[in-house]
Amino acid sequence: MLDIQKIRADFPILSQTVNGKPLVYFDNGATSQKPQIVLDAIEKYYQEINANIHRGVHTLSQLATDAYEVSRGKVQQHINAKFAHEVLFNSGTTHGINLVTNGFASILKPGDEVLVSSLEHHSNIVPWQMLCEKTGAVLKVIPMNEGGELIMDAYDALLSEKTKIVTVNHISNALGVINPIKYIIEKAHAVGAAVLIDGAQAVPHLKPDVQDLDCDFYVFSGHKMCGPTGTGILYGKEAWLNKLPPYQGGGEMIKEVTFEKTTYADLPHKFEAGTPNIAGGIVLGTAIDYLNQIGFDNIQKHEKELLEHATKRLLEIEGLRIYGTGKNKASVVSFNIDGIHPYDIGSIIDKLGIAVRTGHHCAQPIMNFFCIPGTVRASFSFYNTKEEIDLMVEAVKKAKTMLS
Ligand SMILES: *Cc1c(COP(=O)(O)O)cnc(C)c1O
Repeated sequence: MLDIQKIRADFPILSQTVNGKPLVYFDNGATSQKPQIVLDAIEKYYQEINANIHRGVHTLSQLATDAYEVSRGKVQQHINAKFAHEVLFNSGTTHGINLVTNGFASILKPGDEVLVSSLEHHSNIVPWQMLCEKTGAVLKVIPMNEGGELIMDAYDALLSEKTKIVTVNHISNALGVINPIKYIIEKAHAVGAAVLIDGAQAVPHLKPDVQDLDCDFYVFSGHKMCGPTGTGILYGKEAWLNKLPPYQGGGEMIKEVTFEKTTYADLPHKFEAGTPNIAGGIVLGTAIDYLNQIGFDNIQKHEKELLEHATKRLLEIEGLRIYGTGKNKASVVSFNIDGIHPYDIGSIIDKLGIAVRTGHHCAQPIMNFFCIPGTVRASFSFYNTKEEIDLMVEAVKKAKTMLS
């Protein structure tokens, strides 16, 4: 069992008070908090080895380059990529998806089809719409049911020779639903389509195995898994990364430049133009070490208890509805109370020290599906406790009394 109090002591921000109350941080789906070991590693980098990477022969540049490449290796191991050069550093999920859609602009033809799911974050919808506009490809949407689960029969029916790429999140940020991505990937490959998995909400809760999944691309952000903001990973199968054109041109991504012709660097540098977030990339490795030390089995076990406790306690409140009721869920509870705007609940409970997200969670199509303006979303991390959930439930009850 996890010693949660000991783990909480690793996170300085959690011992704060907000509005005079102890902070209850339930907005982990938006970004996670950072342990001291990550904060220390950022400081240590700038104090001891700060230098530009892959350039200098001098000692610090080599130390920084080594640390950056060690971190790439940690990510490779963590997600079980076949090669380190299939792991590209970037600024986050949004950046990773745009890199892929930019590349597909040179592949798609008018009439080709792109399949997205109805559970996507805007950053896994809008870049594909832009791509379709540019190429004349057609965007098709995998529908979902009232429980927030993707309908696999409908998915099967949408797949055809015209499908060139399928893009779907591993876990929905708005509802916490875990999607059957292995099935989705297998079926897409059967018609020759590539698959991108948006793993932004999955990596805080589980360790993806990209070879076992057999996905073509897997993207995630560092900041939702205890790492710094402005860091992210795009995993791509070697063959795909060789096939796609570079995203940005500049330093670092070239082999040779003349005014007549430029040749591009090998992977992964072809997709890493310019000076990256060096400290961030290195420290993402520290965050991954930290999570592995706690252990994803332990994390999942604890978070499952939190989810069950929160679901049970919240449903005690009359008029409360939870969205996303499938069996396979991460520790996210998205809810509304009859006749009350989610924003009002969020504002009142904030005064009581409780941080939740309210609104459409960058997933307006899901809110349109349920005909609601948004939800209150409590997203739990391994450092949260049942006692904190009880505080939230009391606060929501208080808000309900005040607002009805
Ligand atoms: C947070 C999130 C994103 C966007 O991540 P950024 O770090 O803002 O680029 C995309 N998809 C999902 C499912 C997310 O939760």
